[in-house]
Amino acid sequence: MSRNIEELARDNVRALTPYQSARRLGGNGDVWLNANEFPLPVEFELSQQTLNRYPECQPKLVIERYAAYAGLTPEQVLVSRGADEGIELVMRAFCEPGKDAILFCPPTYGMYSVSAETIGIAYRTVPALENWQLNLPAIAEQLDGVKVVYMCSPNNPTGNLINPDDIRALLEMTAGKALVVADEAYIEFCPQATLSGWLKDYPHLVILRTLSKAFALAGLRCGFTLANPPVIDLLMKVIAPYPLATPVADVAGQALSDQGIALMRQHVAELNASRAWLLEQLSRLSIVQQVFPSETNYILARFDNSPAVFKSLWDQGIILRDQNKNPGLAGCLRISIGTRKECERLIAALQALSVERA
Ligand code: PMP
Repeated sequence: MSRNIEELARDNVRALTPYQSARRLGGNGDVWLNANEFPLPVEFELSQQTLNRYPECQPKLVIERYAAYAGLTPEQVLVSRGADEGIELVMRAFCEPGKDAILFCPPTYGMYSVSAETIGIAYRTVPALENWQLNLPAIAEQLDGVKVVYMCSPNNPTGNLINPDDIRALLEMTAGKALVVADEAYIEFCPQATLSGWLKDYPHLVILRTLSKAFALAGLRCGFTLANPPVIDLLMKVIAPYPLATPVADVAGQALSDQGIALMRQHVAELNASRAWLLEQLSRLSIVQQVFPSETNYILARFDNSPAVFKSLWDQGIILRDQNKNPGLAGCLRISIGTRKECERLIAALQALSVERA
């Protein structure tokens, strides 16, 4: 019997809605505040002219520099094609398709479910509490058959940190049963909150990091997984033979030099100052119902008639991220912190809308 191409695909892939990345959603803007990118490019020159050769699987300089930056040993660091690849590697190494499950607490980052669906692993959700902290008793009830719990802190898209006492309780209740993956994609904006110092106490803790946010390198596609050597060794079994292109390793090495890290910290200070300004300005607008405090390079806010606000800004070339359909986030838009000029343009546009509606 002849079958069409669609019918030949795996059932879970046929049913899959792919991740709606900011780039896939498109738009015709000149103020891009929808992907939590750094607003300006940082310049690099390529120093490696060896593209005839395959790259190192785990480039030594990049690993050593990241380990030093994170206060860990090189054996505790794995580098991959963005933190997104790290999310998937953990599932591929630890979860049996059709048998094991992962768990996460919405509203949170969308790739945990998309990766699980792609691989064919069930996922369980335990909605966050109203203050967006973990619902520990509900998680405890759902842990049977769960191999990996994904927890994002600071959380995307809400911007809050997860309470460290709750994370400790989560680590205690999962010990010997499941891994806890702490997604620290935005940790450079609140470095004191990192869990890297906890790796020595918890063999089942895994931390995800990226160069896409504070390091201003979203286009590079470079991320890190931090864990104890037994976890790293298992991930190394399932990673692609050459996960990082030579130019990627070249630029990542430079970004992780002392100067690169100093520049990143300067950028973080600038963005954090702009975030405080934006927060203050947003909270004065009549169309803004609520602005949520943030430890990251974005702010979540709840608006009157958010679809109209989103569309009006979109038509003016100011592109935000609509969170309306995310559980618990009706009326919410997520705003990445751009340059100060971009923040000012956004506020001017919102002020005009507030006047129109007054
Ligand atoms: N985790 C979170 C919470 C994120 O927001 C993102 C970026 N959208 C990622 C992981 C993926 O980062 P990367 O660009 O390194 O794949």
